[in-house]
Amino acid sequence: MDISFTKADTLKNHPKDSTLGFGTIFTDYMFNMDYSPEAGWHNPRIEPYGPIAMDPSTMVLHYGQAIFEGLKAYRSDSGEIQLFRPKDNLHRLNKSGHRLCMPELDEAFLLEALIKLLKIEKDWVPSAAGTALYIRPTIIAMDPYIGLRSSNTYRFFIILSPVGAYYPEGFNPVKIWVTTEYVRAVRGGVGEAKTAGNYAASLYATHLANQDGYTQVLWLDGVELKYIEEVGSMNIFFVVGDELITPQLNRSILAGVTRDSVIKLAESWGVKVVERKISIDEIYAAHAAGTLKEVFGSGTAAVISPVGKIKFNGKEITIGDGSVGPLSAKLFKHLMDIQYGKAEDTFNWIMPVR
Ligand SMILES: *Cc1c(COP(=O)(O)O)cnc(C)c1O
Repeated sequence: MDISFTKADTLKNHPKDSTLGFGTIFTDYMFNMDYSPEAGWHNPRIEPYGPIAMDPSTMVLHYGQAIFEGLKAYRSDSGEIQLFRPKDNLHRLNKSGHRLCMPELDEAFLLEALIKLLKIEKDWVPSAAGTALYIRPTIIAMDPYIGLRSSNTYRFFIILSPVGAYYPEGFNPVKIWVTTEYVRAVRGGVGEAKTAGNYAASLYATHLANQDGYTQVLWLDGVELKYIEEVGSMNIFFVVGDELITPQLNRSILAGVTRDSVIKLAESWGVKVVERKISIDEIYAAHAAGTLKEVFGSGTAAVISPVGKIKFNGKEITIGDGSVGPLSAKLFKHLMDIQYGKAEDTFNWIMPVR
């Protein structure tokens, strides 16, 4: 399929790298493509970033049949632009789409479209330390219909947003809050898909956590309310004794690309990594026994997010001395160094945009 291009009349001013936050500024162009049962995926096009006109009855607005991805383009010291494991994100998009009854996309074509868009928008990739161009591929149900079924028509789009360093004030631990009153996902649900409703479902508990002075919710499993699943938009890791433990993928946890990278990198350093069920009680017991050394989240936005405090059942514990642990710091630095082309890419995770 040929990708058409419509030039914008005017281009936007670029913000200074030092002023960048997260997710509020969008570049000049976006990629769009439509699906209908008759034509399949068709009309791939790069055109000026702008609103999507839709009927108020459009299915995505009512039933949340929507999926998305999140990855970043990084500018290396030599000025080159590079992606980190983009094929894994595009594959996960198809997996989420399968769960949400959406038509499959050709992953090789998606990558080609993304690279074409990035080449047009290359000047939007910021260069200050820790900054990047965030990439948001999305699919939404487009039928104008308010009966409940899966849509026949879809829109796929990719938008780009220059983002600042996640830790402008330094790499500081966050406080997380465990709830036994609300769950994010249940057995047989859509927890393993990156679908809109999961995030809507998490808002209220996150609001309660914020009110109590915590940044994010640490979710427990939706069946027994006992086993740890993940944080808002991050997977979670625990250093207990000399093991790095993370909840095993159980179909209600999102399989993070960063999670997988942490596992592979830590194993390559000789760290014993264990994927298994782990209960919140076990974490509190390890803390009491003095064997809980580090806790951190992993995700594209923050890479590694060290956890300083956890609150569960009214009892707050401090992880180590509350500062960033050595494995968290080493993983953070090494993953960033790979992403920014400062460390050797021994796992073949980097794809240059040329
Ligand atoms: C996106 C996401 C993650 C992290 O995935 P990465 O591929 O590492 O960015 C973890 N949990 C949830 C719920 C997510 O939406």
